[in-house]
Amino acid sequence: MAGIYLHIPYCRSKCHYCDFYATSNMTSVQKLVESEMSELISRKPYIGNEIVETIYFGGGTPSVLSANQVTDLLAVIYTNFIVASDCEITLEANPEDLEEPYLTELRLAGINRMSIGIQSFNNEMLSYLGRGHDNSRLVNKIKAVQKAGIENISIDLIYGIPGLSLENYLESLKEAMQLGIQHISAYSLIIEKNTFFYKLYKTNRLFEAPDDDVVAQFNATIDTLANHGFSHYEVSSFALEGFKSRHNSSYWEGKKYLGVGPSAHSFDGISRQWNVSSIRNYILNMANSKDYFDIEILSETDRYNEYLLVGLRTAKGISRNHISETFNQNISAYFLRELSKLNSEDFISVTDDRVTLTRKGIFVSDLIIRSLFFN
Ligand code: SF4
Repeated sequence: MAGIYLHIPYCRSKCHYCDFYATSNMTSVQKLVESEMSELISRKPYIGNEIVETIYFGGGTPSVLSANQVTDLLAVIYTNFIVASDCEITLEANPEDLEEPYLTELRLAGINRMSIGIQSFNNEMLSYLGRGHDNSRLVNKIKAVQKAGIENISIDLIYGIPGLSLENYLESLKEAMQLGIQHISAYSLIIEKNTFFYKLYKTNRLFEAPDDDVVAQFNATIDTLANHGFSHYEVSSFALEGFKSRHNSSYWEGKKYLGVGPSAHSFDGISRQWNVSSIRNYILNMANSKDYFDIEILSETDRYNEYLLVGLRTAKGISRNHISETFNQNISAYFLRELSKLNSEDFISVTDDRVTLTRKGIFVSDLIIRSLFFN
């Protein structure tokens, strides 16, 4: 079982908080699509006869692709790989792109799940974040996606925005529930370097939201969504029954995936590979059959750290038995020693074999996971 990720590093404009690499120059989009089609064909042996269960168009903004470009990429995948009949095929989209007949064409191309960058339903917050849409447009776009027959919808929401009140944030959650959204990824705003927000922050024109507000909004996310039947299955991910992201879950379960496109990563449990990040160099290297990715063979320590990194972010957590059976004595002894410290501080819950983060631990998940890393 495997997944395929296609990276589409274009955005029509830059959001104020985002540090992802993406260009607004669309002149190379068709060339990139053709290069990704070539890469898919040349990477056929990486997946071999494994069944492709998930395909994910991520970015950037994959909805800058025309429906024909999406169709062409999927056709190459179906021709060269064994694709499950119920394959989850997700496309990340910016609301502005979600017009008819594009939506119907995407559904006919095979897109059966859409991940929409909503971020907030509050007009003031949308403008502050540099998003090019308002509440009424967002609502209409989501309804258009549903009307087009794509009924597995995920939205992103951001909390911890300076000036965002708990009341306003709860309104956004309520709006998502009223729209019948099946999956929510909720992220705390982080002021990243190389963003417009960082410039404001460094010149004292933006102040981070108080920790208490961030914690209250995260707690409200967990409680509100639980009351509406959502399971909190990963630190930032919430889903109704049957709507967990199968693609993201496969990352967290350590399954094989092939990443296609500039800066895309691939993983097969033994090695990690990453493609050249420049769009220009990626296209040139593909055209001239030159190397376009680097490879790193994972050491035992890397594999242990990777297991913690992805496993502890999920509600399923990690297995003590798996660690003692898979990794050497030094690593498993270190793990048990550090685990007992975290357990005594209520950051970790240990039930039989499974180790999971408590709600208190989720708030500081990065610190907890790093404290268990073996160096
Ligand atoms: S948040 Fe999404 S749409 Fe905005 S700049 Fe980043 S990748 Fe592009």
